[in-house]
Amino acid sequence: MAYDENNIFARILRGELPCKKVYEDDYALAFHDINPLMPVHVLVIPKGPYTNLEEFNAGASLQEMGGFMKAVAECAKLAGVDASGYRLVANNGADAHQEVPHFHVHIFGGRPILGRMIKTEN
Ligand code: AMP
Repeated sequence: MAYDENNIFARILRGELPCKKVYEDDYALAFHDINPLMPVHVLVIPKGPYTNLEEFNAGASLQEMGGFMKAVAECAKLAGVDASGYRLVANNGADAHQEVPHFHVHIFGGRPILGRMIKTEN
């Protein structure tokens, strides 16, 4: 799938749309989700133009991939959930209902999560 340069996160990366920034470095930008589902709900996105994990895996250097994972861990620390725990979610592709076509990881935390895994209807 061709990367959509006008997706919401691409526009945030270019500074065309605002965000409540949590963290930024050479590899990642992190900001609060506009519609938080938990007391802590932070989105971490790589800076490169990757629609999903497949594109990230195919196109990103190991430095970019490692830098991104380091940023996720740093964000959990900055959000104050590193000690209490948190859940990482990456909705990847149609079956996972990925809404924004720029690869991203959700950090959910700030209270105990009900259930051991996200429950689905089947
Ligand atoms: P998904 O692609 O399904 O993993 O979810 C995309 C997430 O992006 C949702 O949780 C939205 O609430 C969030 N979102 C959409 N637009 C914005 C925005 N402008 N700023 C912050 N979060 C957003």
